[in-house]
Amino acid sequence: MELKICHMYPDVLNLYGDRGNMICLRQRLAWRGIETQITRLPIGSEARLSDFDLVFIGGGQDFEQQVLLEDLHRGKDREIRAAIEDGIPFLTICGGYQMLGHYYETYDGKRCDFIGAVDLYTVGSKTRMIGNYKFRCGEASGGSLVVGFENHSGKTWLGSGVQPLGTVLAGFGNNGEDKTEGVRYRNVFGTYSHGPLLPKNPELCDRILLTALERKYGKAELSPLDDAAEKAAHDEVAGRI
Ligand code: GLN
Repeated sequence: MELKICHMYPDVLNLYGDRGNMICLRQRLAWRGIETQITRLPIGSEARLSDFDLVFIGGGQDFEQQVLLEDLHRGKDREIRAAIEDGIPFLTICGGYQMLGHYYETYDGKRCDFIGAVDLYTVGSKTRMIGNYKFRCGEASGGSLVVGFENHSGKTWLGSGVQPLGTVLAGFGNNGEDKTEGVRYRNVFGTYSHGPLLPKNPELCDRILLTALERKYGKAELSPLDDAAEKAAHDEVAGRI
């Protein structure tokens, strides 16, 4: 078995080491004897997303989001929409998560028209939402408790046809108001959780991998790993938040 993973915009969307999630995806597959091919798609590259089994997009500041807009609307927008409708799993973080929605309007009134692949939009607020936080994934996403770190000014609002990834237990999540965190639509996992999300949340990582393997191979199983160190890190952080 093999998964072909696409890392979109690794050149501009890589805040707080979001790319560590790629290392984690690959390593947890390697431990099960499953091969990975990783392809990086920076600004200016041609994208044929139907070639991939999983797509990862990290986060970036307002500035980076504006820098990639022109490139995004030169064809990657259509590719992303088609891939999502086709059920290709996506993991998208913060700025990359916002990018899947209709638009982001910054606090000082600049508007980034995004791609409307997922029914959500984001509006900047005066106060940044920063800190460690935790949320419980919904049933459709495995129900695990996730610990993470968020840093955004955008408040994201979900449309009626999409579900949140989870429910906020501590911290802000999508907007600090309705207790929703992230999004689940088709096989998209969108979240505000930056940096090493997957290494310290192995259940969520395996859920995403299983989604990709089942889409490609029909039935798939992931053999259990010794996650003692990962669980200890997770529980230690969860207890402190
Ligand atoms: N620019 C967005 C915001 O502040 C995203 C930030 C990020 O990816 N950390 O809302």
